Amino acid sequence: MHVAIFGTGYVGLVSGTCLAEVGHDVVCVDIDQAKIDGLQRGVIPIYEPGLEPMVKANHAAGRLKFTTDAGAAVASAEIVFIAVGTPPDEDGSADLQYVLAVARTIGRHLRAPAIVVDKSTVPVGTADQVRATIAAELESRGVDIDFDVVSNPEFLKEGAAVEDCMRPDRIVLGSREPASIEKLRRLYAPFNRNHDRIVAMDVRSAELTKYAANAMLATKISFMNEIANIAEKVGADVEQVRRGIGSDPRIGWHFIYPGAGYGGSCFPKDVQALARTAAQHSLEPTLLNAVEAVNDRQKAHLFDLFVRHYGAAGVLRGKTVALWGLAFKPNTDDMREASSRRLLQQLWDAGARVRAFDPEARDEARRIFGEREDLVLCDTDDEALQGADALAVITEWKQFRSPDFEFLKRSLRDAVVFDGRNLYEPAEIEAAGIAYWAIGRGRSI
Ligand code: NAD
Repeated sequence: MHVAIFGTGYVGLVSGTCLAEVGHDVVCVDIDQAKIDGLQRGVIPIYEPGLEPMVKANHAAGRLKFTTDAGAAVASAEIVFIAVGTPPDEDGSADLQYVLAVARTIGRHLRAPAIVVDKSTVPVGTADQVRATIAAELESRGVDIDFDVVSNPEFLKEGAAVEDCMRPDRIVLGSREPASIEKLRRLYAPFNRNHDRIVAMDVRSAELTKYAANAMLATKISFMNEIANIAEKVGADVEQVRRGIGSDPRIGWHFIYPGAGYGGSCFPKDVQALARTAAQHSLEPTLLNAVEAVNDRQKAHLFDLFVRHYGAAGVLRGKTVALWGLAFKPNTDDMREASSRRLLQQLWDAGARVRAFDPEARDEARRIFGEREDLVLCDTDDEALQGADALAVITEWKQFRSPDFEFLKRSLRDAVVFDGRNLYEPAEIEAAGIAYWAIGRGRSI
């Protein structure tokens, strides 16, 4: 099938590549000329495991093209995806300007009947807006071309995006047109062979499904962080509590890890946008607001532990902190809303310097922070420790899981580790003579 995808970011590039991988003819469109030029030369703008060779192979095979020529892409496509960003507006609602700009572009260039598929995460009712925008453009051109707008929210996880795309848990399709569902069923057939993963529904339910999924996951994290904070006060170990509750199949093991808060481009903005939708309909989003408030407080928690250890924030002036991790989670270079950013700012505000290491997010950190005296971006985790007083761990990359504690003890002048992801056993690390502060592990009584 001939497919055009607007937006060549995490979602657009990965989805486009996977569709090309199974034999479809895909054109990825972006307004970012530098990104498109780079992709044509084989420069992949993001880090995702397995993505680079797949992009290169499909590009070389001619099934995956990159362009800024929106007109040509729309004119030759029977299915047009919208996968542009939907960042939060000032009031927390989703900013639809990029989605609607693409809708206008589609309306201006459509030549033959097509299905427009919204993959961006958008508030309920957006498909109607996209439909009206395209229809208005067609009308102003004086043409009548058949099209449908389908909601097909994306559930891929950064860090496992290719795997998620090739083997999705479910493919949600929202449309009132059985023919559209049928056509997308054929598009996705190569991903749907083992058992039927397609969940067809009405458009509004599909739009809400994406927000419900992300809000549920964010709720689990904030819930566990609240339990962690209680554990810390009452002298319990949240890691043992986690093991105690995860074994109940109604609760399950997934997403009950306490830590330094969730980040990324999705949970924070989607929880906010859903709360905004509720408020717009005169509903008090009590739970969603609490999920967000707990997360916001949690992002500051690791710094609170620094203050507890040193007795006052002022003691941090002139200290050097090694920071392991910058990305919002492992296996990505994405630092949007990352907890590391809050901690960095707090450490800098307190007058500390940071030596940071992340296996993939170094370039992204340099892009965000530029050159600054109080930040050294290191090439290895050991290099970050050189001359450091303390270590903070904020992203649970696998390589941080089993450090040599004796080496850490010798490297860190103050022999203290602040662990925002509960990677270590307190008894083990403390046996090496290191003071250990983690999340919800009963330290304050
Ligand atoms: P992104 O910021 O990585 O990429 C968006 C791309 O769209 C950019 O390259 C930008 O230049 C391009 N763009 C903007 N306007 C355009 C236009 N008019 N025409 C063509 N391209 C244009 O965004 P992302 O992380 O891929 O997210 C895209 C959408 O998918 C969002 O709604 C997001 O909430 C949702 N989503 C993201 C993830 C994720 O893990 N990143 C997962 C599921 C859903």
